Amino acid sequence: MMIEKTIRELVIYAKTHLGLKGLDLVYCENLLLRELHVAAPYEGEVDEEAIAKAIVPDAYLEAIEAHCVSALGMTNAQAERESAFLMGLLTPSPEAVDAEFKKRYATSPEEATSYLYDLAVASNYYQKTKVDRNIVYDAPFEDGPKLEISINLSKPEKNNKDIAKLVHAKKSGYPACQLCLENLGYEGRDDHPARGNLRLVSLLLNGEKWYLQYSPYGYFEKHCILFHESHTPMEISRRIFAALIAFVDAFPHFFIGSNSDLPIVGGSILNHEHFQGGFHVLPIFHSKEKEEIKLSRHPGVTLHVMDFYDTVLKIEGEDKEKVLDLAEEITLAWRNYEDKTCDIIPASEGAQHSTVTPLVRKVDGKYQLFLILRNNRCDDRFPGGIFHAHPEYAHIKQEGIGLIEASGLFILPARLKRQAALVEEIARAHTPKEEYLKEHPDLEGFDDMVKALEGGMSARAYMAEVCRKILGNVAVFKDDEKGQEGLARFLRGLNA
Ligand SMILES: [Zn+2]
Repeated sequence: MMIEKTIRELVIYAKTHLGLKGLDLVYCENLLLRELHVAAPYEGEVDEEAIAKAIVPDAYLEAIEAHCVSALGMTNAQAERESAFLMGLLTPSPEAVDAEFKKRYATSPEEATSYLYDLAVASNYYQKTKVDRNIVYDAPFEDGPKLEISINLSKPEKNNKDIAKLVHAKKSGYPACQLCLENLGYEGRDDHPARGNLRLVSLLLNGEKWYLQYSPYGYFEKHCILFHESHTPMEISRRIFAALIAFVDAFPHFFIGSNSDLPIVGGSILNHEHFQGGFHVLPIFHSKEKEEIKLSRHPGVTLHVMDFYDTVLKIEGEDKEKVLDLAEEITLAWRNYEDKTCDIIPASEGAQHSTVTPLVRKVDGKYQLFLILRNNRCDDRFPGGIFHAHPEYAHIKQEGIGLIEASGLFILPARLKRQAALVEEIARAHTPKEEYLKEHPDLEGFDDMVKALEGGMSARAYMAEVCRKILGNVAVFKDDEKGQEGLARFLRGLNA
């Protein structure tokens, strides 16, 4: 392998994919040579046509990382960080990307978001090859809305305890978290990713500064992250609903949502205000209206209970202030609502339990604001959360049920690829439990799945069914008489 040749190929890749041109070609090649301790550039020809056809730079980066390990004595992790740094050198500067995005935005917001996305793929910031390995499937049901399942082979699993520790984690080290602006160009370390090739754009929403970037491990098409300029904890408030609405005003082709502000029912990062959105139509947006709630004090907006597995309300209207008025009123009411017959206690021992997960999109000029009612209380029966995935489903999912899952797209851990294949084998061979546990102790808890597959169910259908049941756990008002009466009482209270 000739590393000089790979360096030349990567520079040509940057020319065809990242807009590197003119004097920068020579300049950047010399920077790469220096970084990789190579004395002189490649003398021969490279196949420019083949390079132009490459979708991602993986092949060149793999060779460079191998060189970093074998010739420069780096660890694999250091070599990966070096890749991110080198791609950062070859990608237009953050300021240039921001300017180009705004220029394109002036003619088409869609073109602007596509530009930033294509750049993220080409610069290897968005880990396309890894994301493409995820196992993604649609899970239709005969008696309810469909879900989407993704077995995520690209990102490690986090549990609720680790996340809870981070909520009030002191600002320590640099950058303070993975969402701070200071990640831009950051070299990375073993417990923090390298961000040399990260590019983002600044936005002003209701007078506050936010930054838009893509998720490096997107869960769906153009999965973006919008984060606030300052490192402040997540909150759920009218201000946040207004920022979501301002975002869909600016990018009507994207949906946007915020995780809740509490552990278990929130996302993996709670100490830095951020939203997630994208070009995808999540299952929640396909859900049908189940019942209209007439509210005499809110003309000009409609409120519907949605036919979904967790408890979802939809506010719809053209006038954003009216939408915000109702969203704020429902949120405040829910935050204080107590209904012990439904296990709903809004706060205890000074800790808030009830909150909402909001999502917004714009359809035919109307705002649709979805509120998923959430509660994170734990008790002796359910120490992991009363309205969280119950223990009998832990073999499929233990992580918090955040915005994306609560909206019907389940991100399942990588281990399930291996475990599901094993269970299929075990079910086919009718292997007794003691026997398979001896060889695969991590299949403890999978006997229900083994039985289901022995009964003829597919592994995919089984996992989808569990996800649906988990959303049933998440539902604060259950899909039974007691739950529906409880929901009706809560909604009647809104009109009082
Ligand atoms: Zn931060």
